[in-house]
Amino acid sequence: MVTILKETPKNPITLMGERAGVCWGADIQDKEKNYKRGLECITSGHHRVMEYVNVEMILDGYSARVIREWYTHIGGAPTRLQASTRYINYKEFTYITPPAITGNAEAEKIYKGVMDTIAKACSQLEEDCKIPREDAAMLLPLGMSTKIVDKRNVRNLIEMSHQRLCTRAYWEYRQLMKDIMEALCDYSDEWRYLTEHYFVPKCEVAGYCREKKSCGRKGRRQD
Ligand SMILES: Cc1cc2nc3c(=O)[nH]c(=O)nc-3n(C[C@H](O)[C@H](O)[C@H](O)COP(=O)(O)OP(=O)(O)OC[C@H]3O[C@@H](n4cnc5c(N)ncnc54)[C@H](O)[C@@H]3O)c2cc1C
Repeated sequence: MVTILKETPKNPITLMGERAGVCWGADIQDKEKNYKRGLECITSGHHRVMEYVNVEMILDGYSARVIREWYTHIGGAPTRLQASTRYINYKEFTYITPPAITGNAEAEKIYKGVMDTIAKACSQLEEDCKIPREDAAMLLPLGMSTKIVDKRNVRNLIEMSHQRLCTRAYWEYRQLMKDIMEALCDYSDEWRYLTEHYFVPKCEVAGYCREKKSCGRKGRRQD
C-alpha cells in the first residue's frame, strides 16, 4: 500500500553530507566522507540538512479520513495529488473497516449496510435522477479508501512520526506510519538507519509523555 518512487534518493544521509560539505568547503566527491558528515549533522541535531532529502511515494488504499489528517503536516511545504471524486467510478467504492467493527458481527452488519446504501444511493442519483457524478459524490464517506501521490522532505516525515506513532494518534495513521517505515527500510540501508533511529514517538524524543491522557509508556515530566 506504500510505494516509494524512484525519485527518492537511495542514499539520504550521503546526500545530506554532500549538501553540508558545500558550506564547509569540503571534498564533496568523496562518498564516504559525505556519509560521515551527513551522520554527524543529524546526530548533532543540525536537522536543516534533512530538508534536502525528498520522499516521493504513492499511498494507496487508506481512508479519506486518514489522508485528511495527513494533510495537516504542512511544515516544509509538502505537495500531493489525490484521486479525483469527479471522474473515478465510485458506485462500487472500497472502504476501510476498523478492527473494532470487524470483531463485532452486529456492528459489521450495520457498517456494511450503510456503505451499501451509500453506494446504491450514488448510483440511483446518477442513473435514475441524472445527477452529475461530482454532486452524487457528496455522499461518499470518510471511510472510503483513496490514493495519493505525495512528496515531502524527510524532516517533515520524522516530525510526523513523533506525533503519529504516539498511541494517542488514530489507529489507521499509526498503521500508515508503520507501512511507510517498512517501505523505507526496504528501499536502502541508509533509509533503514534513518527509520530505525529517528522515526519514533514524541515521548522518545522528550524522554517523558506530553499527552494529557497518557498510555503510560513513559512517565510524566514531573515524575
Ligand atoms: C492525538 C492527536 C489529536 C489531534 N486532534 C486534532 C483535532 O482535533 N483537530 C485538528 O485539526 N488536528 C488535530 N490533530 C493534528 C495536529 O493538531 C496537527 O495539525 C498535526 O499534528 C500536524 O502539525 P505538526 O505541528 O505536528 O506538523 P507540521 O505542520 O508538519 O509541523 C512540523 C513543525 O514545523 C514547524 N512549523 C510548521 N508550520 C509552521 C508555521 N506555519 N510556522 C512556524 N513553524 C511551523 C513547527 O516547529 C512544527 O512543530 C491531532 C493530532 C494528534 C496526534
